[in-house]
Amino acid sequence: MIFAGLAEKLQETFRRLKSKGRLTEADVDEAMKEVRRALLAADVNFQVVKSFVARVKERAVGQDVLSSLTPAQQVIKIVREELAGLMGGTQSKLNMAPKPPTVVMMVGLHGAGKTTTAAKLANLMRKQGRRPLLVACDVYRPAAIKQLQVLGEQLDIPVFSMGDRHTPVDIARAAVEHATRQGRDLVIIDTAGRLEINEEMMAELEELKAALRPHEILLVVDAMTGQVAVNIAETFNKRLGLDGVVLTKLDGDTRGGAALSIKAVTGCPIKFVGVGEKLDALEPFHPDRMADRILG
Ligand code: GDP
Repeated sequence: MIFAGLAEKLQETFRRLKSKGRLTEADVDEAMKEVRRALLAADVNFQVVKSFVARVKERAVGQDVLSSLTPAQQVIKIVREELAGLMGGTQSKLNMAPKPPTVVMMVGLHGAGKTTTAAKLANLMRKQGRRPLLVACDVYRPAAIKQLQVLGEQLDIPVFSMGDRHTPVDIARAAVEHATRQGRDLVIIDTAGRLEINEEMMAELEELKAALRPHEILLVVDAMTGQVAVNIAETFNKRLGLDGVVLTKLDGDTRGGAALSIKAVTGCPIKFVGVGEKLDALEPFHPDRMADRILG
């Protein structure tokens, strides 16, 4: 379970703090040292941890916290607010087009879960009343086109494809026209990934972005890769300007560093999380609920 280790350590720290009654600045310092260690052990970005702890400390000793009746509770409340803030504060939604169809471009590296997430997102949005069209633009891997078709069939959601002999731009343009004709109000484009970030992939995605002017570019990254996921997000964001991130495999044994670092490092909110292999295992990301879960 994500954050299991972090949650255990922080809850232990705050149990001790609560048992003290009155608090001194030294008590807060000691607790913050433990928080710092716990966040670093959870693989949170070093700079993020540093400024997080500084902010909490400033608020905890700067206001009337220590002289209040329940100082430990006040400190925990500050930590809760700052943890949620680190992850974006409130839930971030997809940008919707004022005039349909809304065009969403899914980007990411191989294996991150991009194709599965495209299908999961179509499924989730259909439950919210949208009429999605999935688009297979990975012209380098016929297997990826087939994979999307199979997922679309399972969900009974149409998949637009033109095989692998056309350019992604031509396929995507034709797909948007098709969606408009068919009254589909949400076009979800599965683009081609690579094993690692390279110039060819980025140039291709830039071209697709320029031609399509998508309302949303969503990066899919694997939470299990921790700070690597954060670096990937930073690189994609600099080049493409992301609107949001989908963090997959949160059901796995991840420490949670990516979830706590991505917004703070890149400025891009995590909008959805993948929590399993099934096609209904995609959830909107709620920073405040996640902070609650960490602090128990
Ligand atoms: P792509 O190469 O980025 O398109 O990745 P795929 O969509 O093919 O996914 C790669 C693998 O990750 C597949 O086996 C998926 O079932 C799996 N996967 C994707 N998202 C999740 C998730 O949230 N949790 C788990 N446990 N597996 C996932």
